[in-house]
Amino acid sequence: MCGIVGAVAHQNVVPLLVEGLSRLEYRGYDSAGIAVLNDDAIRRVRAIGRVAEMQGRADSEKLTGTTGIGHTRWATHGGVTEFNAHPHVSNGDIAVVHNGIIENHEEQRLRLKQLDYVFESQTDTEVIAHLIHYYFQQGNDLFAATRLATADLTGAFAIAVVSHLKPDLMVCARMGCPLLIGVGEGENFIASDVSALLSATRRVIYLEDGDTASLTCDGITLLNSNGETIERP
Ligand code: GLU
Repeated sequence: MCGIVGAVAHQNVVPLLVEGLSRLEYRGYDSAGIAVLNDDAIRRVRAIGRVAEMQGRADSEKLTGTTGIGHTRWATHGGVTEFNAHPHVSNGDIAVVHNGIIENHEEQRLRLKQLDYVFESQTDTEVIAHLIHYYFQQGNDLFAATRLATADLTGAFAIAVVSHLKPDLMVCARMGCPLLIGVGEGENFIASDVSALLSATRRVIYLEDGDTASLTCDGITLLNSNGETIERP
């Protein structure tokens, strides 16, 4: 289990994501990736090895965007390959980063294949992206779709989700893995570890198991496992 970061801002978040991932390098990892929303699409770079390798690709592809998520992976399901590196994307519409292990991934994979979802990786994580896509295209908003998808999962996770169909929004959820929100001025962040956010903000909200959060530049909505709107210190 390694690291996740995410940001919604009025400025390009790629440097922030890269710096956050670099600050998580001490935890060990085998690959890294980021996805940002730009020009009505999800743009993603991934690379095996160091964050610097991935950053080089992001630079050469001139990756920019005001909403994005990033990941350092410690492979548990599926080998160390670029296809298995996060973020995972479903049908070009939903991008997900995930720390942890989905125990019922085989059952969910079977269900999703019957719904015509095509898998590109061997990870347990990819089922999360497709499940959120499935509920989203049924007419649920991204927040509700994420809550419905996580209700189908057993195991441990901290996830962050973005979609170019909701360009100024990021959704995150936790169950059994650390996740926190960094509160900024006109920008908000998430990370699995407070050290990732040190240069961005000192104001943090620690999520608890079962929490789901929706973040825009100017607001944060938190729901607990009963779906009640809550405030956390
Ligand atoms: N289980 C996921 C995978 O193998 C996530 C591992 C992690 O927490 O980095 O891709």
